[in-house]
Amino acid sequence: MNVLQAEELIRELIERVAGEIGVIIYELRPKKEFTDEELSMELGIEINEIRRALFALYELGLAEYRRKRDDETGWMEYYWRIRYDKEKEVLRRELLKTKRKLEEKLEDETATVYYICVNGCMKVNYEQAMEFDFTCPKCGAPLEFFDSSLAIEKVKEEIRKIDEILSNL
Ligand SMILES: [Zn+2]
Repeated sequence: MNVLQAEELIRELIERVAGEIGVIIYELRPKKEFTDEELSMELGIEINEIRRALFALYELGLAEYRRKRDDETGWMEYYWRIRYDKEKEVLRRELLKTKRKLEEKLEDETATVYYICVNGCMKVNYEQAMEFDFTCPKCGAPLEFFDSSLAIEKVKEEIRKIDEILSNL
């Protein structure tokens, strides 16, 4: 996998979990420890939003902190560090998670025969379609056999892509 692809994936992941602020913090690439307060002042972003993003990064395994009581104020200070060294590990874990979900989906699509309302109201399995007498209970239109081969191919393609990324990670 090239560097650009890894960067893009990690960016997407952070944005999804820690939001835009998470991405901003991550891309700052701070060289040393920092407190959420320092970061808040430097970026001009509300400290609560900074904290939320940092804890989201922590949940992902991409940040860590140590707590220290401030001698003057007596308050707990959080000293943060971004774990750039964990990037690959986190990516691999998340990709495997996505792959598992896709495999479940694939299994489901392969094992089950689906029927859909021609107006798009619902997608049901064969048993349900039978119960409804192959008529949509919402709009009365017929329920037709759903050809899932295209969807299956798409899922397979996604899994193949993930495998490729994983093998190059
Ligand atoms: Zn319908």
